[in-house]
Amino acid sequence: MDCIFCKIANGEIPSKKVYEDDKCLAFYDLNPQAPVHVLFVPKSHIASVNEITEENSDYVSHIFTVIPKVAKELGLENGYRIINNCGADAGQTVMHLHFHLLGGKEMGEKII
Ligand code: AMP
Ligand code: ZN
Repeated sequence: MDCIFCKIANGEIPSKKVYEDDKCLAFYDLNPQAPVHVLFVPKSHIASVNEITEENSDYVSHIFTVIPKVAKELGLENGYRIINNCGADAGQTVMHLHFHLLGGKEMGEKII
């Protein structure tokens, strides 16, 4: 399958890794929108939030147990923002589920 985040997850395409285990990978975004901008992807091809099911949701819940640990390691004690873009109207450009972790600056109350 020609999916860039599958290729990053299996090591075919290099990335600047922050965290890895058997279920997920976290790596720095190529085009950072904040001082810390990390992407969390499941090591299973789930195209978007619309494709989360009872069968694959363990990948998603696992990612959300890893996010706070990575955020702490990256020094985001003051908080951070998690963003997911789902589909065209949200501007999803890579069709492999990913959660953006943004932090390292005060982002205010607006969504982005
Ligand atoms: P989205 O708009 O939510 O689909 O976000 C896709 C994100 O992936 C963007 O923030 C891109 O900068 C990022 N991105 C695309 N290709 C790579 C790559 N090879 N390594 C790291 N980040 C990437
Ligand atoms: Zn994929």
